[in-house]
Amino acid sequence: MALAYQRILLKLSGEALQGPESFGLHAPTLATVAEEIRKVHQLGVEIGLVVGGGNIFRGAQIANAQIDRVTKDQMGMMATVINGLALRDVLKAHGLRARLMSAIPMLEVAQPVDAMQARRLLSEGEIVIFAGGTGNPFVTTDTAATLRGVEIAADAVLKATKVDGIYDDDPAKNPQARRFDRLSHDEVIARNLKVMDLAAFAMCREQGMPLVVFDMFKQDALAAIVRGEAEGTLVNS
Ligand code: UDP
Repeated sequence: MALAYQRILLKLSGEALQGPESFGLHAPTLATVAEEIRKVHQLGVEIGLVVGGGNIFRGAQIANAQIDRVTKDQMGMMATVINGLALRDVLKAHGLRARLMSAIPMLEVAQPVDAMQARRLLSEGEIVIFAGGTGNPFVTTDTAATLRGVEIAADAVLKATKVDGIYDDDPAKNPQARRFDRLSHDEVIARNLKVMDLAAFAMCREQGMPLVVFDMFKQDALAAIVRGEAEGTLVNS
């Protein structure tokens, strides 16, 4: 079967792992995520993952004036490593081979990010989880997702969100909000749509990297996207 995307970079926010909890990890939710990933892997898709940390710490949201913003962001990056460790083991429990790479050296728990090695592992069917964000403060894991997507030569970045695509208004607040099936990178900028961090989106645009925004918890949505079926919103040049 022809696939729309042979290699993907899937961005999972930390929130996507917390399920109904207000903090941390939710075992059934992790299992659901792993199952959706397994189905796509079974189709022959190579999968790189960037995991966020918002279920534990988001630097900008830590309200403590005595902690420097750089430190807060480092705490946030650590949170992504915690999530990455959990995800790796859960993916393994679902029969997948998975490897954790961290942008912040932490040799006892994860290997350093190595794009070339990651490409090789992906082509051998292993799932590579990139944690630690970009390793730099003042950006988020959206930037890490685009960066790793480009580094591993992914065919697309797939951003899993709570809603099933990009809307012209917040669908949680406006029932009339309309979902786009397709947009160009330029239209996203022109319409000032909040898709991901601007720096991250600018990199997608510059690199001509397709971006799909979709709902990770809609069953089989991820598989539909890689098969090229209409699902979520596709941003392409
Ligand atoms: N972070 C950072 N640099 C990066 C990626 C993440 O400083 O390259 C920090 C930042 O504080 C961020 C936190 O890690 O708020 C968790 O990441 P993010 O907010 O992207 O997680 P998500 O919203 O995807 O769960």
